Amino acid sequence: MPRFFVEPDKIRDGQIVIDTEDVAHIKKVLRIREGEVITVCDSCGNDYQAEVIEIAEKQVLCNILSSAHSETEPNISVTLFQGLPKAAKMDYIIQKTTELGIVRIVPCALSRCVVKLENQKAEEKKVSRWQKIAEEAAKQSGRGVIPKISMPVTLAEAIRELQNMDLAFVPYECEEMTSLKKVLTGQKDVCNIGFLIGPEGGFDPAEIEKITAAGIKTVTLGKRILRTETAGEAVLAMTMYELGDINTF
Ligand code: SAM
Repeated sequence: MPRFFVEPDKIRDGQIVIDTEDVAHIKKVLRIREGEVITVCDSCGNDYQAEVIEIAEKQVLCNILSSAHSETEPNISVTLFQGLPKAAKMDYIIQKTTELGIVRIVPCALSRCVVKLENQKAEEKKVSRWQKIAEEAAKQSGRGVIPKISMPVTLAEAIRELQNMDLAFVPYECEEMTSLKKVLTGQKDVCNIGFLIGPEGGFDPAEIEKITAAGIKTVTLGKRILRTETAGEAVLAMTMYELGDINTF
């Protein structure tokens, strides 16, 4: 069933108003007619089954038939701090981690990033495009929440956020002692998890010094070196398997 996202304030008195770009998609691409039923999510974890009752020029009006807590959202909240990768890799990272249940992706400017931060306006434009990719991936994968793409942060800002999480770690290509399994095992009560993935060039030792000095563990992902766009989704999948909802069936 087609799935759409609206802001909570578009849901009132048993009705839902869709007045975003989705109106054109509903009319011209999906050719949905009055009387058909769609799923509408409020991005706060609630799914509504709604009957389309009026398709106007700039809005679609629906009657709520039923509502339920979104059953596709994971029981843990995982944030990926992603070292800014080259070109279209971020699109791929956003799409795959959305499918796997990420709640937030924070681009991070690190010393070995090939891509450097531009002015605020240019970064806002990039984040807005990335946010649309997250929305499309959330629709395709049946998520109840669209992951949030944040504005890029510095390493210091990422460290500060990671320190406030229930569980935080940094997969580091030169780490040889601490495994991801060791860090994840037994963490049954954690809700808020964050990890930082380096860019194609990896981490500068000075960056790792700051990370470990802040009390954040570095972990190895094994003997093979994963691409930056592979590492995030691999770590997320393993985290969801060990602590999330991927192994609950
Ligand atoms: N330039 C680095 C090198 O050649 O060793 C590789 C960096 S890797 C492409 C990008 C990021 O993925 C790393 O900074 C790390 O966060 C993560 N990563 C990839 N393979 C890893 C591994 N075997 N153990 C821990 N982290 C890994």
